[in-house]
This record gives sequence, structure tokens and C-alpha cells, in this order.
Amino acid sequence: MTDLLIIGGGLAGSEAAYQAAQRGLKVRLYEMRPSVQTGAHQTHDLAELVCSNSLGSNLPDRASGVLKNEVRILGSMLLECAEIASLPAGGALAVDRELFARLVTERIENHPNIEIIREEVKEIPGSLSIITSGPLTSPALSQSIAALSGEEHLFFFDAISPVIHADSINMEVAFRASRYGTGEQDEGDYVNCPFTKDEYYAFVEALLQAERIELRAFEEAIKGGVKAGHFFEGCLPVEIIAERGVDSLAFGPMRPVGLKDPRTGKRPYAVVQLRQDNLAGSLYNLVGFQTNLKYPEQKRVLRLIPGLENAEFMRYGQMHRNTFIASPKLLRPTLQHITRDDLFFAGQITGVEGYMGNIATGLLAGINAARLHQHEEPLTLPPTTMLGALCHYVTHADLKDFQPMKANFGILPPLDLTSRIGKRERGKFYAERALGDLTFALANHALAAVPGEFSAEDGA
Ligand SMILES: Cc1cc2nc3c(=O)[nH]c(=O)nc-3n(C[C@H](O)[C@H](O)[C@H](O)COP(=O)(O)OP(=O)(O)OC[C@H]3O[C@@H](n4cnc5c(N)ncnc54)[C@H](O)[C@@H]3O)c2cc1C
Repeated sequence: MTDLLIIGGGLAGSEAAYQAAQRGLKVRLYEMRPSVQTGAHQTHDLAELVCSNSLGSNLPDRASGVLKNEVRILGSMLLECAEIASLPAGGALAVDRELFARLVTERIENHPNIEIIREEVKEIPGSLSIITSGPLTSPALSQSIAALSGEEHLFFFDAISPVIHADSINMEVAFRASRYGTGEQDEGDYVNCPFTKDEYYAFVEALLQAERIELRAFEEAIKGGVKAGHFFEGCLPVEIIAERGVDSLAFGPMRPVGLKDPRTGKRPYAVVQLRQDNLAGSLYNLVGFQTNLKYPEQKRVLRLIPGLENAEFMRYGQMHRNTFIASPKLLRPTLQHITRDDLFFAGQITGVEGYMGNIATGLLAGINAARLHQHEEPLTLPPTTMLGALCHYVTHADLKDFQPMKANFGILPPLDLTSRIGKRERGKFYAERALGDLTFALANHALAAVPGEFSAEDGA
């Protein structure tokens, strides 16, 4: 008898399967590779890392390090395999990708409660299930998800604009304003970076010359204009718009209409607008600035924008195929679907970004599916923990601008501080609060009592 079906044996699915199986559930894990390929995976191993071999910072006062410490406390099998397969990489956790995937595959294959079925699942199952089919979910399953949730609630391309830290913007040059003064905030909703004509032409030239990330076959549609669901209009990378004519950006995402630079009293030749990206106001995204430039090139070229000479990037722009659901409308912070208690989503398909975030949400979905099966209430983790904050973010973000989000301090509730402190010290405070609140929440839910499992003390 099978208690739980998991669709997709990637990062989230493998962790979810292990967590549920450790809690005694009979799990059937479906993985469509090798018979059906994704276009990005190269092997038939479970938990294959499709691109970089880094799982992000390991330092305890960095956002990714905080998340790692949380999933360590929660008993992550994939993190353990990553640590066994780790390579020297300074403060980051980089792995030998083949060894990592092999270790995970062996642990899943050898688990007495897990059965692996190498088959594509085309429809959402009707019984207790976790969907972890990832950013490259097969078209048939995507259709079934769209049928359950509404086509407009499934997105197929990532068009992420870069996000920068607010305190790295030079406000001597940039100015706050809304077009035609129509914003909600008195001082203006946007931070505007004004260009003179010469600055604009130099910027366009640099953009056109910069090196781009090579598109893969399945991403070629990006060049023709990206359409996804009903929510996206054309969201071409800025460098592609620039190719259409030197002034096309000045009439597109960089149009200056309705804005006056308070320092000159005149309308700038062009403008890059920055929009607040998190509640704390510590992050801003570059509006309409989807880009496929290589990351070091983004840093170099975008720092030519007046006011962003010293910009610190929290996230670079990206374009690739990425299937993800409208989690703010469809999921609860327990990762259950809004209409079905017994249907969970985890991994990149929820809009949580990054290898570690995908592993972490798989872990929570596995625990929660097991809890549901055992007639216990699924867990909602405190929003002061990095995993709780990620789940909170994807289920509460503004749907209009919903884009995948990775672990970062900007999504945590602000610290209750009486004096200004440095970035590193803030990181330490966030980390201490997160681990303290997680340990407390776990003790409250008596999670330490699960047989053969972790205890809160083990990882603290
Ligand atoms: C091209 C690309 C590059 C990326 N690079 C990075 C990076 O460098 N760093 C980073 O942190 N993140 C990166 N990501 C984002 C993300 O972290 C990874 O995609 C991550 O692997 C997602 O984990 P997951 O478990 O959600 O999905 P996956 O690891 O992709 O696992 C999903 C699994 O489901 C299977 N599957 C799909 N449909 C079905 C079906 N119908 N039936 C059965 N099985 C199915 C797939 O074969 C796959 O094995 C990248 C994403 C893409 C698309």
C-alpha cells in the first residue's frame, strides 16, 4: 500500500520522500528521467544540480547559511549528502555534483519505505501527493496543474529583473518620484536614476557589447518575446530591446515621461526606475530590466546607471524557462494547495528559488504530508526563520509582481533594534533569532519525539 505519491525526484522531491519515509509513510517517488528528458538535466540520477555546483554560503550570518542551519536542525538528508560531497569553496558549500547526486540516489533507492517509479506523471493524483516537478515540469503535467489552478496561475518563463540593496543607491544622484506625481507615497513611489543623452547612449552601447548567457534550445522562445499565462506581456531582455534601435529603451522601460529631475528641473533623457522589493524597504528592483547578461557583466554595465555606481546586487537578472504557480493565490504557508488539504507543492514550482530553498521546502512538505497522514496539524514555521519567511513570502506576495524569491534577509521581519548596526552584525542577529524561534517552534510541536529522527538539540 502506498501512503504518499511524490512527482519529481529532483532536490525537493528527494528530500520530501526521505522525510516522509523516515516518519513511516510508504512513499512512491515518480521520476520521468531518463525516458523523458527536461532539456537541462544530463543524467538519470535523482537530485541532479542543473547548473552551478554551489549551494550558496555556509557562513552562519549569511541568509543562505541561516537556511542551511535550519534544515540541518530539521534533519535534511540532502544537506548531509552535500556536506559529504563538499569541495573547497571558501565560505560556500560547493559540491562534487556527481557524487552528491549519487549519494542521494543511493539513500533513496535503499530506503525500505521508498519505491522509485521511472515514469512521467501526466495528471495530478487524487490522493495524498507532493508535486515537486520543478521549473522544467513536463508539458502534460503542467496542463493538469493549469486545469486545477486556472491557466492564468501558471507561469512559464522567468523574467527576473536585478534586485539591489537600497543602501547602495546614491541618492545624491537618484531621486524619489512617481510619474506625474500620482504615486501613493508623498515623496514618490519610485527611486529614479536620471540619464543625460550622452550617458544614455554610452549605457546602450555598453549593454549591446556586453557578454550574454547562452540560451539553450528550450529557451530560444525568449528571443521572440516571452508570453506566459495571462500575467506577462512582452518581457524581453533589455539588451534585446536595445538591439531594435538605439532609442528603443528610451521609449520603452527607460521612458522618462512624467518625471522631472529636481536637481535640473528638467525631464531627463531617459530614466531607470527602481521599485521597492520587500516590506522592509531594504531591497529595490530595476523595473522592466529583465536581462540575460552574464552576472559579472550585469554588475559592470548596470553600475553605469547614474546613481548605481556602487550598487550591491542581491539578485541578478535572469531569463530561463521556469514553470511556477501563483503561490500567493494557490498555496498556504504549510505548502498545501488552497483547495485540497492532501495536495502539497514544493521546490521551484512554488516560486522558491535556489537549490537550498528547493531542498528546504521539500523537507517541510515531506514533514507536513507525514503529519497530515498521521492526523497531526501541518506546520507553519515562524516567519522569523528563513524557511518560514520563504513560505510566507511565496504565499503572501503581491500576485501582480510575483517572481521567484531566494533566501535573503529582506524577507525577514525587521529586527527590533535601538541603534544602527553593520550588515554583518545584523546577519548575526537575524541568525540567532531564526534558530531560537525554530528550536522553540519544534519543541512546541514535539517534533523531537519522532522515532529515529532528529531532536532540536542535535543541530542547535
Ligand atoms: C536551467 C536552470 C539553471 C538553474 N541554475 C541554478 C543554479 O545555478 N543555482 C540555483 O540555486 N538554482 C538554479 N536553478 C533553479 C533551481 O534551484 C533548480 O532548478 C532546482 O533543481 C529546482 O529544484 P526542484 O526540486 O524544484 O526541481 P528539479 O531539481 O528540477 O526536480 C524536478 C524533477 O521532476 C522531474 N519531472 C518533471 N516533470 C515530471 C513529471 N511529469 N513526472 C515525473 N517527473 C517529472 C524532473 O525530471 C526533475 O528530475 C536553475 C534552474 C534552471 C531551469
